[in-house]
Formats: sequence, C-alpha cells, structure tokens
Amino acid sequence: MNLLGIDIGGTKTAVCVGTHKGVVLATRRMPSLPEEPIEGYRKRLVHLCHEVLEKASVKPESLDAVGISAPGPLSVKRGVMICPPNNPGWHEVPVVDWIRRAFSAPVYFNNDANACALAEYLFGRYKGARNLVYLTFSTGMGGGIIANGELIQGATDTGGEVGHHVLDPNGPMCGCGQRGCWEVYVGGRMVAERLKEKIRSGNIQTLVVEKAGGMDRVTMLALEQAARAGDRFAMSEWDEFAERVAQGIGNLIMILNPDVVLLGTMAIHAGDFIMKPVLDKLPKYVWEWPLKACKVEPSTLGPQIGDLSALAVALTGLRHAGA
Ligand SMILES: [Zn+2]
Repeated sequence: MNLLGIDIGGTKTAVCVGTHKGVVLATRRMPSLPEEPIEGYRKRLVHLCHEVLEKASVKPESLDAVGISAPGPLSVKRGVMICPPNNPGWHEVPVVDWIRRAFSAPVYFNNDANACALAEYLFGRYKGARNLVYLTFSTGMGGGIIANGELIQGATDTGGEVGHHVLDPNGPMCGCGQRGCWEVYVGGRMVAERLKEKIRSGNIQTLVVEKAGGMDRVTMLALEQAARAGDRFAMSEWDEFAERVAQGIGNLIMILNPDVVLLGTMAIHAGDFIMKPVLDKLPKYVWEWPLKACKVEPSTLGPQIGDLSALAVALTGLRHAGA
C-alpha cells in the first residue's frame, strides 16, 4: 500500500515513498539544474526514484501509484511540462512517459499548486473540507481550488490559476502578457522588482535597501523587515501589498464560498504580520456571512507539503480510477 511521490521544483526535485495516509517513509532530493540537458535530468530522476525505494525497503513492483507535482504550465492529459519557467531550454518535457517506462504502477500528474490543494484536502488540519482554496503565495501566486470535494482542473488545465485574474486592466504588465494580474501585486518576484524601481526613480531613503544589503538585492523579506522596524515607506508599501492580497482573496471567497483558504510560503514565514492586515481588510471585498464561514490561515502542512503534494496527486488519481 505504498505510493511514490515526485515533486519537481524550480531549484530542486524531491522524491519520496509514502503511505495512503500521508506517512512519508523515505525522501531524497537533488538539484534541478537550469542548464542541464534533459536526458541527464531524466536519468538522475529515475535513479533517485530507485534510491528512495531502496531506502524505504519498498519493491518497485509493489507500488500502487506514482504522483508527480510540477510547475506549470503543463498538460495533465498529455503528461508534459510545457515550458518550465526555471529551465529555459526545456520544452514539452514528457515526464509522465519517463516514469511510466521506469515503473509498472499507474502515474498521475498535476501542477504544484493543485497538488498542494489536494495535500491539504487529504492530509491537512482541514482535511475533508469540501470547499478549499490553496494559494502558493511565494515568488508567484499559484492556486488550487477544491469545490464540492473535487479539484477544479478546467478545460485547459488552467482552473485555479487565480494569480492571473485581472484586478486592473491598466495596471503593470504581468509576465503572462496581461496587465494588472493579481500576481503583479502580490507575487514576491514582481513586487520586489517594482519596489526597486520605485526606490530608485524616486530616490527614496528607506531601510528596505539597508535590510536587503544593497539596492540590487531588494526582496520581500527586506520589505517585511523594514516595515517591522517601523520604516514609513516600507510600512506604506506593506499595507498596499496586504490590501491587494485581501482584494484577491475576497474575490475568491465571494465567488467560491469556501470553507477554508490556506496560504503558503509568505504567510507561513511572515505569520500575523501579513495575516492580521489581510483579515482586517477582507470585509471590504466580500459579504459578511461567507467571510465569517471561511477560515483564512497559513498552510497547515509546513515544509512537508512538497512530499505530501506529490503523494496526494497519486492518491487522487487512484481514487478517480476507482482503485
Ligand atoms: Zn498574469
């Protein structure tokens, strides 16, 4: 009754063996090298899978299923990573086919944000909550939506891409080609870029630069530290950031009426410093009773969510197959 989970990330790939209850028996990781030819990566990945199985004393032929979580854009139906943003040389990577050729167990596949939503739904503190939203809230804003107990996959696998719902069509350009996407205002990478530009062009004296250790190294972490230290510019920027986080979450609660909204990386790291202003601002964007019924909290699975998300993809695939 064991599952193999493969969590492909921008900087590392983790492989684990775990049970249907989400108990991780063994786990190993390797770097995802941006310039590596794809065949080299494939070989290292398959080798790592065998290593982890051996470490867990699980025979490959006894696996019930394999789950793969990978960054989008990807096609679940075709089992390919279309153009992973951290690996510019990769294109149409047939990762499902690689693993099918290496193992006899069925292989299931989904994007990382959907996989995290499934992990919270199957293994988290709010497991079984039939309407659940997971937000990655990291360098970008990925999302996974469970509605009535089912993941919203959508017609083109873009269901749950909440980071690209537009808040302002005249807003700043997003990497996706639209203007004013939610991610532009709340994704760590783009917020930090605009922050640098604002400080530079306005010649603003702020603790943000000092905390970052130089203008070129300005990040969300430096903004948070400067805001916590009481820097006026940083506090104002942090407040605007929280406003946009609340606006997007409010939209989602208004549309989906979820039981719970769980937020990843930045919420886990910053805790109440971001959660409190967001919760204070939410009543502006959503009716009182769906808001009262919804818990908005940091993710409940901590650093284990990567391993568990891949296992959750495997388990969900098995359930749909009727196994
Ligand atoms: Zn966008």
